[in-house]
Amino acid sequence: MYVVCNKHLEEAIDEFVEVYEQPPDLYELDKTTFTDWLAPQHCHFCEENPKYLVV
Ligand SMILES: [Zn+2]
Repeated sequence: MYVVCNKHLEEAIDEFVEVYEQPPDLYELDKTTFTDWLAPQHCHFCEENPKYLVV
């Protein structure tokens, strides 16, 4: 599972496919509410605000 900014979305998808050998599901963080999970404050690859959840 990756939480990433706009810039690193492609990188996260590439890495996901490499690790899990299947395409990930993408969710926009600001359009999705999670009941018992708090989104990280920054991207998996940098310090930007995350925008997407790649699972
Ligand atoms: Zn990033």
